[in-house]
Amino acid sequence: MKQKTLSESVEFEGVGIHTGEVSKIVLHPEKAGTGVRFMVKGKYIPASYKYVLKTDHATLLGKDGITVITVEHLLAVLYMLGVDNLTIEFKKGNEVPILDGSGYYFYKILKGITSELSEKARVIEIRKSLEVKNCNAYISVEPYHGFCALYRGYVKGLLEEGVAQYCGNAKEIIFARTFCYEEEVEYLRQKGLAKGGSLKNAVVIGNGFVHNPEGLRSKDEPIRHKLLDLLGDLSLLGARIRGRVFSHLGGHTLNYAFVKNLAEISFSTSFTSSCVSTP
Ligand code: ZN
Repeated sequence: MKQKTLSESVEFEGVGIHTGEVSKIVLHPEKAGTGVRFMVKGKYIPASYKYVLKTDHATLLGKDGITVITVEHLLAVLYMLGVDNLTIEFKKGNEVPILDGSGYYFYKILKGITSELSEKARVIEIRKSLEVKNCNAYISVEPYHGFCALYRGYVKGLLEEGVAQYCGNAKEIIFARTFCYEEEVEYLRQKGLAKGGSLKNAVVIGNGFVHNPEGLRSKDEPIRHKLLDLLGDLSLLGARIRGRVFSHLGGHTLNYAFVKNLAEISFSTSFTSSCVSTP
């Protein structure tokens, strides 16, 4: 498996769901070994679990006094496309534009301009199962010949249980929009979050119904979105995974704990080859 970047620079502009401010980002191709990184005001933040500062309703990275927020949907798309090397420059703002709340527009633009490099990609091969728990939620990974990620959850008042799966087909999850429950809206606003949220970029779920006039894009759309979030957070490992990841009710906080644990056991010896195995 080879490393990838993009064949050309590409720009996205739009409101940030949490800050409510318009952001403009430019994605620049990079050479092998650069990794995915953000650039704000000339300073870099690697897209790494090491720089996660907050996981409250979105993943926030920070370094040297600068922060970037809501990185997970774009990172999920890059992970699915296998793009390992890229600088995401913020020309305006510090939140990745939410666009329609899903990964769809990122995917639509980027899928045709990925470019393979000659160097091998970093891969973590799972040889032994690992599980991270938090109350009734857990995330596990087990050996598998390729990469597969599953998410099991529910949609309150609408779907008792559902399982979403990504084993290489981005179309399964790319359309799934971010969501919240009606009763959370006030709480999020009080916390200074969701200032840019609207029915145009998020699904709002009431008591047994959806506020968005167009309804859900699939009856398990929120579960598929949680899987998209998981992939974005998994990308913070800075390496691809050869294994099967299963999340039961995980969110950004548990995703982060899982990635940190996996990194600790996998990177306890520094990379000397393109492939490391869990002990
Ligand atoms: Zn999300």
